[in-house]
Amino acid sequence: MKRRALVAGNWKMNGSRDSNASLVHDIVFEIKRFPDIDVLVCPPAPYLDATGRQLEGSAIQLGGQNLSEQEKPGAFTGEIHGGMLRDVGCAYVIVGHSERRALYGESDRLVADKFSAALTSGLIPILCIGETLQEREQGQTEAVLARQMKAVLDGSGIQAFKQAVVAYEPVWAIGTGKTATPEQAQDAHAFIRGQLAAADAKIANSTRILYGGSVKAENAESLFNCPDVDGGLIGGASLKAGEFVAICAAA
Ligand code: PGA
Repeated sequence: MKRRALVAGNWKMNGSRDSNASLVHDIVFEIKRFPDIDVLVCPPAPYLDATGRQLEGSAIQLGGQNLSEQEKPGAFTGEIHGGMLRDVGCAYVIVGHSERRALYGESDRLVADKFSAALTSGLIPILCIGETLQEREQGQTEAVLARQMKAVLDGSGIQAFKQAVVAYEPVWAIGTGKTATPEQAQDAHAFIRGQLAAADAKIANSTRILYGGSVKAENAESLFNCPDVDGGLIGGASLKAGEFVAICAAA
């Protein structure tokens, strides 16, 4: 089955009102050339509303970078409820990015709770998983991916993956300029799909698995050509309009 590609820009903690407006201005028109793929941008939370308004009428979708695991809004200072992301126009939310796992102590359990909260709010979670360099060198890549997938499968069940996306992001490739080879990416993606298939082959076959980690215009095509790679989660290169559009063209 041919899955519809998704190219998602993760702007991380970058940008300003002015730079975001000019970035969106520069990609909106160009993206019309790619009606066969889904394109998403994930600005920092304070800019979601303005970016969402600027995207009105365009096919580019809006996503959050993080959300609270709380099922209901309330006294949780500094947190953002999934319903609020929906309210400002988000369709997706990134969950469990390795920067949040490593720098903000997000455990597999917390990530699983955030994944579930995203679904409850009607958002499509983009579940990020991936091994560190040390884990890869110690031959633990598959064990790490299996553990990270299991936490979410145990929490939300396989049916949840009808409305979810997985992003394989080897930690050693994020922001480092070191990209996984297409073979390394394909192996990991096939393994992840196998984890889903063990629960339900049909859902596994339709779930989109993105690759993330130093994707650029020059390496996007070879990665996207892998049979189990269904698009990309793009960090640094999503901040440059020409580069992001070129990556979309490769999908
Ligand atoms: P990068 O980041 O493209 O800058 O490596 C990817 C990500 O963290 O999602």
